[in-house]
Amino acid sequence: MSGKAIAQSQFDRAADLIGLESYMRRILVSPFREVQVEVPVRMDDGRIEVFTGYRIQHNGARGPCKGGIRYHPEADHDEVLGLATIMTWKTALMDIPFGGAKGGVTVDPRKLSKLELERLTRRFTQRIAIVLGPYRDIPAPDVNTNAQVMAWILDEYSSRQGYTPAVVTGKPVSLGGSLGRDEATGRGVMYVMAEYARDFGIPLKGARVVIQGFGNVGGHLARLLVTEAAAKVLAVSDVDGGIVNDKGLDIPGLLAHAAERRPVSEWKGGSPITNDALWTVPCEWLVPAALGGVITKEKNAKTLDCKVVVEGANEPTTPTADLILAERSIPVIPDFLANAGGVTVSYYEWAQNLQQYRWTHEQVNKELKATITKAYEAVRDMAKAKRCTFRTAAYAIALSRVAEAERLRGN
Ligand code: GLU
Repeated sequence: MSGKAIAQSQFDRAADLIGLESYMRRILVSPFREVQVEVPVRMDDGRIEVFTGYRIQHNGARGPCKGGIRYHPEADHDEVLGLATIMTWKTALMDIPFGGAKGGVTVDPRKLSKLELERLTRRFTQRIAIVLGPYRDIPAPDVNTNAQVMAWILDEYSSRQGYTPAVVTGKPVSLGGSLGRDEATGRGVMYVMAEYARDFGIPLKGARVVIQGFGNVGGHLARLLVTEAAAKVLAVSDVDGGIVNDKGLDIPGLLAHAAERRPVSEWKGGSPITNDALWTVPCEWLVPAALGGVITKEKNAKTLDCKVVVEGANEPTTPTADLILAERSIPVIPDFLANAGGVTVSYYEWAQNLQQYRWTHEQVNKELKATITKAYEAVRDMAKAKRCTFRTAAYAIALSRVAEAERLRGN
């Protein structure tokens, strides 16, 4: 079976579980609207380079479409569509009033100067602005985009429409961003891990954790696990390689090192390892927190040495690898549950913008914990009742919520 066929079978399994009609399956599989644009950018040397950008709105039955924008050489139509689809399930599972969307530009941002990145962002925003808006579609950061990129989107959109902070989330706090948004994805992953730890008897205190990736998700998660959950982070990695220390890495020190744009493998507080070797470090919790498609049948699904996989990234486990992990009795906490903290705090940011009222960091964290814990409990209970994996249970809950909204709206 091909990867796509197995992904379809994951969807079908959940759709069967809730007895979804075939026309509704069709609505829930296909995207509401796809926009592909060309993005010509004046480079610093005077040349014009033309990039391709996408904004795909998968579903908007439960509210405005919502999801990040990524800049990556491998971002293409199929990837963006897959990620937009996950956003629909993520917002539905968290029960926040959004649909799902994703954007991407096929570009290696490491090859651009800051000014080129700004021009790219502004031109891309101009080309997709027609489908954006606080009640239409709201972008946010994703791989290789950040608060600064969101500030440019805000400025570009507002220069035509008037000041509209709610058109984008993950903004700098000084421009209406929410306190706690920056760390929210990592914090949400930790809250889900803490709940799972309690329910399934794998205490976080003193537990060995391996994190693939040390960006916005992995970096904050590592810090929070060490400072708030007393776990030991044994190994982390970035694109250039990894670092391991059996006694646990000094995460604040490593974060300061990485903040200077130095590879984690050059950190003196551990031994360098290859990105491939990272997957075989024995641990209780393994958290892929970088790109998709990294746990595969060919590469590592048969050799992972962990008790639980927690998907901090979107789609890190291929569908075939998912089946292998199930056979090996290694549970997987799926992406659209584990990493939903980001979009959940995006919802609080959007609500604060619309109300023109600011929440405290404590209030944000408290609401995040309540929202993601409620979703976790629903998935856990469904998985138990239906004797299925967390992924199938999460799908079943999300699909039924989106289907209900579609039906109530007349479909
Ligand atoms: N890019 C993040 C995600 O994949 C956040 C999306 C958002 O905040 O809208 O969930």
